Amino acid sequence: MTSAIDFETLEMTLDAVREYVTDALPDDRLLELDERDEFPAELVKELLGEGLGIQLVFIPLEYGGMGGGAFDVYRVCEQMARIDLGVATGVLATFLGSDPIRVGGTAEQQAHWMSRLAEEGLLMAYGATEPAAGSDLGALKTHADPVQSNGAIEGYRISGAKQWISNGGFADLYSILAMAPGGPSWFVVEAGTEGLSHGKPEEKHGIRASNTASVLLDDVYVPAAQLLGEVEGQGLIQAQRVFGYTRLMVASFGIGCGWAALDRAIEYSKERVQAGSPLSEKQGYTHKLIVPHAVRLEAGRAYIEHTARRIDDGEGILNTEGAIAKYFSTEAGNAAADAAIQAHGGYGYTREYMVEKIKRDVRVTTIYEGTSEIMEMTIARDRWQEHLKTRGEFYHDRAKELEQLHAGRPEVGADTAALALHAMAEVMERCRLARLTRNQHVLFRLGELIAWAECAGSLAMRARDAIENTLDAKADRRFSADTLCAMARVMARDAALRVATEGLKLVAGAQNETPAGFADALHLGEILQTQAGLLSDMGAVADAIYERN
Ligand SMILES: Cc1cc2nc3c(=O)[nH]c(=O)nc-3n(C[C@H](O)[C@H](O)[C@H](O)COP(=O)(O)OP(=O)(O)OC[C@H]3O[C@@H](n4cnc5c(N)ncnc54)[C@H](O)[C@@H]3O)c2cc1C
Repeated sequence: MTSAIDFETLEMTLDAVREYVTDALPDDRLLELDERDEFPAELVKELLGEGLGIQLVFIPLEYGGMGGGAFDVYRVCEQMARIDLGVATGVLATFLGSDPIRVGGTAEQQAHWMSRLAEEGLLMAYGATEPAAGSDLGALKTHADPVQSNGAIEGYRISGAKQWISNGGFADLYSILAMAPGGPSWFVVEAGTEGLSHGKPEEKHGIRASNTASVLLDDVYVPAAQLLGEVEGQGLIQAQRVFGYTRLMVASFGIGCGWAALDRAIEYSKERVQAGSPLSEKQGYTHKLIVPHAVRLEAGRAYIEHTARRIDDGEGILNTEGAIAKYFSTEAGNAAADAAIQAHGGYGYTREYMVEKIKRDVRVTTIYEGTSEIMEMTIARDRWQEHLKTRGEFYHDRAKELEQLHAGRPEVGADTAALALHAMAEVMERCRLARLTRNQHVLFRLGELIAWAECAGSLAMRARDAIENTLDAKADRRFSADTLCAMARVMARDAALRVATEGLKLVAGAQNETPAGFADALHLGEILQTQAGLLSDMGAVADAIYERN
């Protein structure tokens, strides 16, 4: 997925999104939409239409789009989520809805539907989830029965119910996953087709400015040409083929919302005086509520940028990396927004303050496009295979790369990130020897530790790139190289300690004993020593965030 968008065009697009959406949706309007549980359909249609044409970013050049890649889509998604996740979800659903066409459609189908999306700015919905088929899409019940004419299939009659569909009540076009005789398959269904209807909007905890509704299909007829790929049974494979990329979008939402909340807390803390000085000057406040969250969000960003670049360079679909990016960044965004409420004290607990809304909004990012638990399972299963294939060397090898990085650039915390990865390899090996991943809890927790260890490595590499001026031209440049180095060291210490102590707990807990010598194999003593200097690095991050010195 190469990108046809250059740096200047991307920056212009980001500016246009910022200006257009901020003008149309100032804070008081956003709070009003949230209060009224109202989807600004006209605005979202304008964003996709002549107003902004945001969908052109992901539509290939040959169909009248801008031909953007994963990196462009990450930057645009983060920007939109910083303003409002509900509106961003309305746009995302169009991106998602068109994915089955982009990856599964025949050349003719792609030309037809993608050109219409580019020209007409159609609002799309992505209809996969069902009442009884959520995380387990294979359990879907919606069925597509062939209609024959002269021995050939001329069309399908689709019946069933889809649940939690973003834009479900407003879309012009739906992609619908249904069970055909050959297996799960994607169909394109136009709004207004007889038998297609939707339920009332769901009353949601957050993203209340997005429309979420059930979509009902009662004997809906579609011509055979609207079966994507014109071959039955490809639906789940087609859905899998875009996960690396679509999960990056939701990961970008996580950091967009997290930073939107944290930046508000940062501004608030400069003004709010307690005990004679602003909160921003109190270490007990900044080092708990601001700094760790900034570090976590930037580690998520490092992983997203690295993965987006690899996707754009044609390294494949990178599903595991997409899952790590989504898991880490959305959990980081959720935690940052929660801390931002705390940072506002009682005011943060009221509807008047945006952080309260952002916290409710960002919560969905750990649920939709695959829950955090499903991400943990995906990450652990995939990396487990790598561990087995390489006879336990997968993470030791990655650690060695970071040790090399440390040799040339000792300031980026790569030695500590390497300790996290070595410890990861040891924890996985103990799990293999004692067959501990038979316990689902152990498997899922491995997924979490893997995400921490890999993201620590990514942030160290990003800090190196910042020092050497080799950051991607399209990369975010909010923080200086020195600040990224301090952040990378904070993150690496956290990841190494987490992998070692949580890994020890997991292995011991699953066996009712602590294996002899395991703490040494994890280099726990060395990891404890790396914690020296943590407070001073956190202070450096706080100074950078508050622009002190
Ligand atoms: C606001 C919103 C918008 C959405 N938009 C869309 C959309 O546009 N299109 C679409 O198709 N879908 C959409 N979804 C659906 C979303 O993707 C699903 O809600 C999600 O995949 C989880 O499915 P579920 O709700 O059925 O939960 P379940 O799958 O029932 O999960 C419930 C809990 O059990 C856990 N769990 C599930 N399976 C396992 C397992 N095997 N082992 C251990 N734990 C497990 C989950 O992590 C979760 O904590 C949307 C959802 C929301 C809330």
